[in-house]
Amino acid sequence: AAMRKSRIQRTKTVCTYCGVGCSFEVWSKDRQILKIEPQLEAPVNGISTCVKGKFGWDFINSEERLTKPLLRQGDKFVEATWEEALSFITGKMKAIKNEYGPDAIGYIASSKCSNEENYLFQKLARAVMGTNNIDNCSRYCQSPATAGLMRTVGVGADSGTIVDIASSELVIVIGANPAESHPVLATRVKRAHKLHGQKLMVIDLRKHELAERADLFLRPRPGTDLIWLNAVTKYIIDQGWEDKSFLSERVNGYEMFVQSLESYTLDYAAEMTGFTKDELVQIATMIYEAKSVCALWAMGVTQHMGATDTSTAISNLLLVTGNYGRPGTGSYPLRGHNNVQGACDFGSMPSWFPGYEAVQDEQVRARYEQAWGVTLPEKPGLNNHQMIEAIHKGKLKAMYLFGEDMALVDSNLNHVDSALGSLELFIVQDVFFSKTAQFADVVLPASPSLEKDGTFTNTERRIQRFHKVFEPLGESKPDWMIFQEIANRLGANWNYTHPSEIMAEAASLAPLFAGVSYERLEGWNSLLWPVAPNGTSTHLLFTEQFGFPDGKARLFPVDWTPPFEADKEFDLHLNNGRLLEHFHEGNMTYKSKGLSHKVPSEWLEVSPELAEERGIESGASVRLTSPYGNVEVRVEVTDRVKGNELYLTMNTSSVQSAVNRLTSSYHDKVTHTPAYKEMGVRMDVLTKT
Ligand code: SF4
Repeated sequence: AAMRKSRIQRTKTVCTYCGVGCSFEVWSKDRQILKIEPQLEAPVNGISTCVKGKFGWDFINSEERLTKPLLRQGDKFVEATWEEALSFITGKMKAIKNEYGPDAIGYIASSKCSNEENYLFQKLARAVMGTNNIDNCSRYCQSPATAGLMRTVGVGADSGTIVDIASSELVIVIGANPAESHPVLATRVKRAHKLHGQKLMVIDLRKHELAERADLFLRPRPGTDLIWLNAVTKYIIDQGWEDKSFLSERVNGYEMFVQSLESYTLDYAAEMTGFTKDELVQIATMIYEAKSVCALWAMGVTQHMGATDTSTAISNLLLVTGNYGRPGTGSYPLRGHNNVQGACDFGSMPSWFPGYEAVQDEQVRARYEQAWGVTLPEKPGLNNHQMIEAIHKGKLKAMYLFGEDMALVDSNLNHVDSALGSLELFIVQDVFFSKTAQFADVVLPASPSLEKDGTFTNTERRIQRFHKVFEPLGESKPDWMIFQEIANRLGANWNYTHPSEIMAEAASLAPLFAGVSYERLEGWNSLLWPVAPNGTSTHLLFTEQFGFPDGKARLFPVDWTPPFEADKEFDLHLNNGRLLEHFHEGNMTYKSKGLSHKVPSEWLEVSPELAEERGIESGASVRLTSPYGNVEVRVEVTDRVKGNELYLTMNTSSVQSAVNRLTSSYHDKVTHTPAYKEMGVRMDVLTKT
């Protein structure tokens, strides 16, 4: 028994699924996971996890794992050695760069991979290949929130910690479904609401679990959030309820901002949003009466044509009411993937170096040029939306993508597919042969988090260490090792032997991470950026300064952008989002036996009214058609949705039924995030039950 026990390992890891960032111990023996055991010391979750963190790990031993590089031969892929694959890749990359220039290659980074890997990938793109054409999937989700916060408070991240949300008197949740998308965070809100008298306001199209529990739940017309936000802000100012001393001491631009709200009367807002005037007053009163208010939002806000402006309006409302810089206040855009925050933080973006320093800033560039011994490109690169358009225009010839399933998660997939299919070189690096890999010329086998060391940064800016539990399966390798081999074949001379050295380099260059080191991240220790050189974390932002040179926040006037209006033929509005058991496109969770057994496929929610009108019941099969494509899907009749509102779970088991067969190329004006939530569809009944 002693021998058997000695072979059991306990290793700390951080969840690979959502942005909450739960950490726990993995009990393992050989290549088997015996159990996942959360510990009280875990800074975010203590002894909680959700079903994905607890049971969603057996994908690592899936027979579908990639274990060898694959090279395309005609319509087929054949196994290759690493030597063959890497010399093919680097030969082609050099040739394309020589013929078309460095900007003919695009780089798509991964919000599932580590900070160190994202740092190294942007270094490969910038320093080795000479382009800023690098982006990550935050473009599909939270870029508008980042941009809205950059405009108003100067830092595009959560203001405080998840624990701090629980101390708020009023939590406002807009266009987000935390109980399924950020379960352990939602548990904290549920507990504070139930036990500590916290008030909860939910504004959403759909009556999800937190909406059921809310003190006030309202359903606006799709795409009208900015209108009620501006109207409520105006009403608060008209009543003299604004925080006068906060505004005069800490905020710029008040006069102009007040003028910009002139047309946002209660009458106008009621007419446009569908709320009554009383309901609008009730929102304003709840905010005024609470001593601390924080706002949580996600894709229901950010996946619209006016998404950055709506995010800005949320932040404006918090500024006017003095709800920044104190415990229980502030903005919480809820990050989706485990490391979407970190991928952005560590420079996988077309206009930012690590730590959000602009590529156009000469002084910053000089710092990196000196450290890396190269000349760096000055012009911001293409984002992932622009890359697809550039492929269609013949300007982008090659793409290197890792840990991202673009051919499933980007909008208007038929348009994306034809772009990816026309590349001269497409390198895909993943744990599985993803939907995107089918378009690749070469597929490289990568190792998931349990097979490597590194750090992730969760939604609250918390950097946490995860440790290797198993050796990489087959010939798969950690992503950072693959980047190093490719960089060196392209003429670099990198000698990283461990991710800690990559982090040390990033910390020496980016002031935001000055005090980050692996020594300070040992055990259950974590760091919240900005991290001072002496290792001090920042739990709550804006206590003294906002993120602008003069330390003051800026009210930023914004106007409503009407959502894209579908033709009359597409008479129903289709919303979409996550469900608890699966994560995002389902690339990993559908390969986890327990999870896919529990929830084998996606479904469409239809309101009882609409079901009656169309004569269908739960279990019916329907075809949804938009101007861009169609999907067939199973129906569930539920009062979570109302009237002509449909809801399709976006975690899909099949690329044929992916919601993005239906979505358009319309996007947020500022950040180019697709307007996934603005979709008119027609519903044809195939079977009635
Ligand atoms: Fe993982 Fe998120 Fe669930 Fe925590 S809440 S266990 S981070 S999926």
